Amino acid sequence: MKFSEIKYERPDYEAINKETLRLAKALAEADSWETAKKVHEEYSKKYNHFESMLTVCHIRHDIDTTDAFYEAEQDYNDEMSPTLAESNLEYQKAFYHSKFRPEFEKIVGPVAYKNLELAIEYFKPEMVPYMQEENALVTRYEKLIAQAKIDWEGETLNLSLMTKYTTSPDRETRKKAFAKTTGFFMDNRAELDEIYDKLVKNRTAQAKVLGFDTYTKLGYAKMNRNDYGPEEVKTFREEVKKTLVPLATKLHEERRKRIGVDHLYYYDTISFKNGNPTPEGTPEEILEKGRKMYEELSPETGEFINFMLANERFDVLGRKTKRAGGYMTSIPDDENTPFVFANFNGTVGDVDVITHECGHAFQGYLTRHDCNEYRDITMETAEIHSMSMEFFTEKWMELFFGSRADDYRMYHLEDAICFIPYGCMVDEFQHIVYENPDMTPEERRMAWVKLEKEYRPHMDYGDNECYLTGGLWQRQSHIYSVPFYYIDYCLAQTVSLQYKAWMEENFDEAWASYVEFCKQGARDFYSKSLPKVGLNVPFKEGCLDKTVKTIMDKAGL
Ligand SMILES: [Zn+2]
Repeated sequence: MKFSEIKYERPDYEAINKETLRLAKALAEADSWETAKKVHEEYSKKYNHFESMLTVCHIRHDIDTTDAFYEAEQDYNDEMSPTLAESNLEYQKAFYHSKFRPEFEKIVGPVAYKNLELAIEYFKPEMVPYMQEENALVTRYEKLIAQAKIDWEGETLNLSLMTKYTTSPDRETRKKAFAKTTGFFMDNRAELDEIYDKLVKNRTAQAKVLGFDTYTKLGYAKMNRNDYGPEEVKTFREEVKKTLVPLATKLHEERRKRIGVDHLYYYDTISFKNGNPTPEGTPEEILEKGRKMYEELSPETGEFINFMLANERFDVLGRKTKRAGGYMTSIPDDENTPFVFANFNGTVGDVDVITHECGHAFQGYLTRHDCNEYRDITMETAEIHSMSMEFFTEKWMELFFGSRADDYRMYHLEDAICFIPYGCMVDEFQHIVYENPDMTPEERRMAWVKLEKEYRPHMDYGDNECYLTGGLWQRQSHIYSVPFYYIDYCLAQTVSLQYKAWMEENFDEAWASYVEFCKQGARDFYSKSLPKVGLNVPFKEGCLDKTVKTIMDKAGL
């Protein structure tokens, strides 16, 4: 169905609450498998319709933030949807404790049950007041950052608008821009420290309600870590230190030579003297090139892209009244078909939408007929779909970047590899912080400085007071808003690098494995799903060796 043809109607929250409670009771009392199965099908259908209405409303509001109808609907849904939490939990409990669990497990898989266990066992009503305070603290951080006012040559800019200058081809401009942005973080250090200190203490208090000494276990449960714990993640980080940190240092040196400076400083954020490659053509032409690329890549991607274009599933052109940012989502009522939202702005980010967001969307398209539980994938898996698609589509980059396609591929590989040590540093920092909740802000900064030496020994912060004193992490919003989230990107990126190495040897075989992996969804646990399609689980010693060697050989490093 075309997106404009999908009908929106305001959800009746009272009726949904009543219905959900009725179904929870019916499921608990079901005396035959047939009845239980029917109840769950009815619940899924109703839940999907509700989700569809929320999603359609959200997209239409984002597409035109001046549309008064959808603005009012969005406000209403924001206010009302939390009122469903209790009845939903009732249903989840009935499903979790159902005497037909063995039968259900056959159709929804073991992962769904493990996720329910995490949701139910790691929650007590006494945590609610803490959770409300936690939300308020995160909002306070987000506001502080969003409202930053940087004085830039007569203009007042926010932090995101400053990116243009911190990545400028002119070195002096970059240095000055960094002095301004990090100046903001120095000026607000006391408040940023206070917010984070309160968050750490708040989250530790939530963990204590459950009987834990520290927050780590609860943090993992909140991230739906249904398959691995801090020990496995630690092994992964150690492997990164051993193999990817030296590679990132080498790439750093290559970049220094390429941009032609004696020494690289933190403000040398560019990859090429003449700036990073930018895509050629109008937004419409970029979409059309995307069609050509996906038609050539495989029959499945050809079918996918033509469906997307024929059914208005891209809203990617930048407009004044549109919300900023980009995402992929899907509409359950319309066979779970995907939708991609973005704002093209003439940078490399436009191509990321065609590769990365379409990777998410392609996986959603392939699994559109699966049950909700199989489609409920965790982040370290979802990002494999998108990050790997960025590599599978690299062959076609001439379409977008013309004579600078090689530059793009170099930039992309460098970016992917150098990100992983940074992301692991963010993760180890949080383990230290939550295992030692009584650390002072000063001690946290010292811990960060120490980690910088392990993960980015090549980084030179010159005379930047904020970065030299361990203040860099305060700009990483995930550390404040979603604890332990960041490692998902690192785990996914290492798997996408496995595909990168694999496609160097045998593209078709790597692609077949990727399609198989996408189709698996949440049928099985992460560490079981990877080996099924010939991939390594990144939790074992030596797990990155072969990949890193192949990539280094290929890049001549
Ligand atoms: Zn993504």
